[in-house]
Amino acid sequence: MASSAGKLSSSGELTTTRRVGAAALPVSIVIPVYNEAANLDALWRRLSAVLADLPDWEVVFIDDGSRDNSLAMLREIAAANSRVRVVELARNFGQHAAIVAGFRQCRGEVVVTLDADLQNPPEEIPRLLQGIEAGNDVVGGWRAERQDQAYRRLASRLHNRVTSMIVGVPMHDYGCMLRAYRRHIVDTVVQCDEKAAFIPALANSFAKRVAEIPVAHEERAGGHSKYNLLRLAQLSLNLLTGFSLLPIQVLSMTGIAIALLDIGFAGVLAGHRLIYGPQQEGAMWTLFAILFFFVGLLFLALGLIGEYVGRIYLEVRRRPTYLVRAVHEVNPGS
Ligand code: UDP
Ligand code: MG
Repeated sequence: MASSAGKLSSSGELTTTRRVGAAALPVSIVIPVYNEAANLDALWRRLSAVLADLPDWEVVFIDDGSRDNSLAMLREIAAANSRVRVVELARNFGQHAAIVAGFRQCRGEVVVTLDADLQNPPEEIPRLLQGIEAGNDVVGGWRAERQDQAYRRLASRLHNRVTSMIVGVPMHDYGCMLRAYRRHIVDTVVQCDEKAAFIPALANSFAKRVAEIPVAHEERAGGHSKYNLLRLAQLSLNLLTGFSLLPIQVLSMTGIAIALLDIGFAGVLAGHRLIYGPQQEGAMWTLFAILFFFVGLLFLALGLIGEYVGRIYLEVRRRPTYLVRAVHEVNPGS
């Protein structure tokens, strides 16, 4: 499905622009797996039905330190299929680190990421590939009708607003991991080797053309979500501090504004005292309220600064983001 368009260059030569159709490109499917034994059979059945229609594909499963039967099941799939590779991580490093491990191992020109719990239907993959074929560097899935609890949907709406603002690429759904990337984006993400990376946002910050298509979203087929409220909050903080200095700049601005207000406030108090003489009590509680408010702000400020220091610490420590223990495949290096 290659399309070509010829046009005359300034030197009079005929230059040809050839865009290779994504459906004809080698596609890698990257799937992080952490304790998903309940879902792997169904996942592989549905995924292989979709892949049967693609000319050139591979699947890279990353076992992110599963404690259930997942690794054994994945190895079975890889043993029976030379296009499947299993990257076994030494322990649980988290979904995004696992995806980076998969990015480093995959060879396709287009890379599709997918969750293993069947919340992202594999049947949507061809539509993502069409989006890449249309000339986009990244195509994101948008879970228009999300099958998660209400608090997750609410948190995610806020998360998407903030992420869109700091990455500078507006999207409805940064959390959906059903996404397709062109090779150069994947290479750049791998090169960044960033600790605590949030892949969809990082990838978008390198893409010229980004598209979003509505995709179906199902309830988790089996097992349970690996994210609790604390892990989600950690992910959001990572994202915020990983992409901008905005929070810290907002703090500085707030500091300046507070100082200015305070000067005004002091002026009013002084004037009041001059006109009406000294006042008693009453004001004390108001002052307490104001004080507590600023103590709160102070804690927030310290916390945010701590976040940045923490990130710097993670980077300078230079510890690997993940550790591969083994790669299981039928035809190594083919
Ligand atoms: N996952 C992983 N490592 C982790 C947590 C999750 O590889 O530490 C995988 C998990 O197996 C699944 C995907 O990431 O394939 C999404 O996880 P989950 O479904 O728990 O997230 P949710 O859909 O609740 O956001
Ligand atoms: Mg899920």
